[in-house]
Amino acid sequence: MTSIADNLQQVHTRIARACSAAGRDPASVRLLAVSKTFDAEAIRAAMAAGQREFGESYVQEAIAKQDALGAQASALCWHYIGPIQSNKTREIAERFAWVHGVERLKIAQRLSAQRPDDLPPLNVCVQVNISGEASKSGCAPQEALALCAEVARLPRLRLRGLMAVPAPSEDAREQGAAFHRLQELFIALRAQLPQADTLSAGMSDDLEAAIAEGSTLVRIGTAVFGSRLRKPAGLS
Ligand SMILES: *Cc1c(COP(=O)(O)O)cnc(C)c1O
Repeated sequence: MTSIADNLQQVHTRIARACSAAGRDPASVRLLAVSKTFDAEAIRAAMAAGQREFGESYVQEAIAKQDALGAQASALCWHYIGPIQSNKTREIAERFAWVHGVERLKIAQRLSAQRPDDLPPLNVCVQVNISGEASKSGCAPQEALALCAEVARLPRLRLRGLMAVPAPSEDAREQGAAFHRLQELFIALRAQLPQADTLSAGMSDDLEAAIAEGSTLVRIGTAVFGSRLRKPAGLS
């Protein structure tokens, strides 16, 4: 049996190896532990092992865990990485420090308007549909820079960069090509908005390929917490 602490250690080792292979400083890649479908106990175990940044995909589930963690929750940095429905923006703006899935200006405007004044600006990554899949979320790559510029102008948001989930692929070249296009877009974004410092890319199965192409934040669920059996019923 492996523990969450052992898993985290292994993920840190994978990140360090991938950085070394790419000639990058391991400190340039942040590890976001994706705790969706796992309970507050699992988050406590990861916290005990030093993890501070957690990603959640379902608003109600995340809030229940934050409430269960009580004062401990405020020592953590919460990232919302799921699809954003308009009727959830207020809770997201109130309960999270980061949002990774912004794909439309309307949603960004709501998040900015609803971000409480006593909190720092909400950190935002614009999601890009980098593989051009019809069913996938994210804005089209050719629209991404314009959307980033609009987000950067909203008073209660802080544009941090781009996020993407490339189409799953067995073919390493294909996978690398998608991350490469994302990196090119990120470089173009930084030329336009130098404050953009985050490329949110890479999950349990493809973090090495993402780091090779400049990812600065990997979102890791399965490799930290184990396989997800199901999406919790009735939660969104
Ligand atoms: C669930 C999820 C992850 C984590 O995926 P794993 O393959 O379990 O590491 C990362 N990013 C997003 C957007 C997710 O929804």
